[in-house]
Amino acid sequence: MGYAVWRSMSFEQQIELSLIGPFGIGFAALWGALWGSFFNVVICRVPAGESLVKPPSHCRVCGEAVRWYDNIPILSYLLLRGRCRHCGAGYSIRYMLVELLVAALAVVMHQVFVVHGAGEIGLRAGQLVITSLFSGLLVAISLIDYDTRLIPNVITYPAIPICALLSVFMQLPHLWDGPVGAVGGYALIWLIAEGYYRLRKREGMGLGDAKLMAMIGGLLGWQGRSRGRRSRGRRSRGRRSRGRRSRGRSQRAARPGPDPLRALHLSRRARGLGAARRAANLAAVFLPAALTARTEER
Ligand SMILES: [Zn+2]
Repeated sequence: MGYAVWRSMSFEQQIELSLIGPFGIGFAALWGALWGSFFNVVICRVPAGESLVKPPSHCRVCGEAVRWYDNIPILSYLLLRGRCRHCGAGYSIRYMLVELLVAALAVVMHQVFVVHGAGEIGLRAGQLVITSLFSGLLVAISLIDYDTRLIPNVITYPAIPICALLSVFMQLPHLWDGPVGAVGGYALIWLIAEGYYRLRKREGMGLGDAKLMAMIGGLLGWQGRSRGRRSRGRRSRGRRSRGRRSRGRSQRAARPGPDPLRALHLSRRARGLGAARRAANLAAVFLPAALTARTEER
């Protein structure tokens, strides 16, 4: 694209174009990798009841502090070949895989919300921030659950109300869908757990899973779908849509409107992304549950 075209755009359009392009993808990947590094600390320390900030990162074998240049997500692991610089103790490759996974999830959320979402760019960027942190937290909970068979209350108790509050940014059909989803998610797992217990006379699921589901339902609403994508065509009718939304009946194909910004980036992949989004929703619900047969509360 020529510099003249860039110059002719408003500041908001320049921001939007930057965020939906390669710069935005790079930012999402870096952002995700940094948070992946933080969630590694969560996975290690929360089950042990340790502080997240004190002491700073250190080698679990020799106790030597990890310098900032040895603490760069993914890269440091590769450069040091997964070993401590001081004592040479080997670290699990899981540290790097968590950073990669959280980074990859942030890139997926960037595609779903920033590139293919509906609404103002500020809202879509906010949705990227919320959903990338949320998916990273699900990864952390899954691994803590896998390691310890526990989903710590110290995570779910604050996360449930925060998720229900943040649901107002997720374009759910109604404002109350988040809180209803939180209560409904808890009730659903409670019913399943209670039914299983009565039938089999042993515990199948714990209330840790119910709180996890309350967290998920709180953010995604009880339907687990956002208004932003489902009824985009219907809502935009009779409303100023800045040409961004597809017109008329062809909404499923997501044909770009006359806005040159969207024309550049909205593509035939939009249909595939709808399926990817549903798969991601399912994974968000079942991945943590599938990793464990039995979860207690703590
Ligand atoms: Zn060491």
